[in-house]
Amino acid sequence: MGKIVRALSADGSVLCSAINSTDIVNEIFRIHKTTPVASAALGRLATAGCIMGAMLKGEDDRLTLKVNGGGPSGNIVVAADYRGNVKCYAENPQVDLPLKPNGKLDVSGYVGRNGFLGVIKDLGLKEPYATQTPIISGEIAEDITSYYAVSEQIPTVCALGVLVDRDWSIKAAGGYIIQLIPPFTNDDASIEIIERNIQSMQSVTALIESGLTSEEIALKGLEGLNGDILDSWEVKYHCGCSRERTEQILMSLGKDELKKLIDEQENVEVCCHFCDKKYSFETDEVTKLMEIATR
Ligand SMILES: [Zn+2]
Repeated sequence: MGKIVRALSADGSVLCSAINSTDIVNEIFRIHKTTPVASAALGRLATAGCIMGAMLKGEDDRLTLKVNGGGPSGNIVVAADYRGNVKCYAENPQVDLPLKPNGKLDVSGYVGRNGFLGVIKDLGLKEPYATQTPIISGEIAEDITSYYAVSEQIPTVCALGVLVDRDWSIKAAGGYIIQLIPPFTNDDASIEIIERNIQSMQSVTALIESGLTSEEIALKGLEGLNGDILDSWEVKYHCGCSRERTEQILMSLGKDELKKLIDEQENVEVCCHFCDKKYSFETDEVTKLMEIATR
């Protein structure tokens, strides 16, 4: 279980959302057998996805983040719901890269720097709301900050961290997003205080390792602004796939595609990208789906 905590400044102009996502990133490591650099990239994006998902308003709202920076990771996809429950995958989760000269994981080398961060919000309208912003650094946090500046014009600070242990499990993971809330009336003074806070704060993983709770991190981001806890809830890695949904996906392929599948193999096996669960369908089951498929 992870925990998201949101804190609001006394004047209601600044929101800080903080999360301890250690359990979530450990689940990513367990399911996707990620190398340390892939754990860091997927973990950072999933941590941001949790917080951003939790900013959605409606119960059925969904958020998808897609990163492709042209690096060896291939596409990285994170999907979150309005409560911040999250799932993710990378095309190549088992690519390993040498550490950078400063001893840190080479996340931008893995993700790449030439490409886009896609943010897709499904708000239950006819069309999902989708934007693309160029990748700035490939280190994820800067790319999220840039998305908010470019696409939403909201001054935002984003910090994300994943600390990998010697056995490749996750020692600590978490993040925070600090945002000004429109209308931006007193923003210069607030920005100055926030910048001071950020400069004096250690990395998120260092804060978590030293025992700070999500509440304490959220309030630390608002130091000097008389922050108060607004709300908090638990979040987890969650994939809602099922046999029924997989049948729907198969049917959406269309009759011709399904025919090709059963001509090629006896059993059709579908593996969920997000949780690695396998669904196997016998030939006669696929034939039945073919009959129901509308195209
Ligand atoms: Zn699944």
